[in-house]
Amino acid sequence: MTKKCIICEDKAQYAIKNTKDYYCQECASEQFKDISYLIRVEDALKQSKENTQAIDYPEE
Ligand SMILES: [Zn+2]
Repeated sequence: MTKKCIICEDKAQYAIKNTKDYYCQECASEQFKDISYLIRVEDALKQSKENTQAIDYPEE
């Protein structure tokens, strides 16, 4: 399951918590001065696997 950056459609590495906005490393650092605001996609996916009540990620 690979998420794409909403800007350049490159492979996304970051997401905004509780949204479906995904960003690659490059766009994330361009859009946000502080990327600690973002969560890592792989962590989000891991979390949703461990927690059945996690955010509902759309299937691709
Ligand atoms: Zn991008």
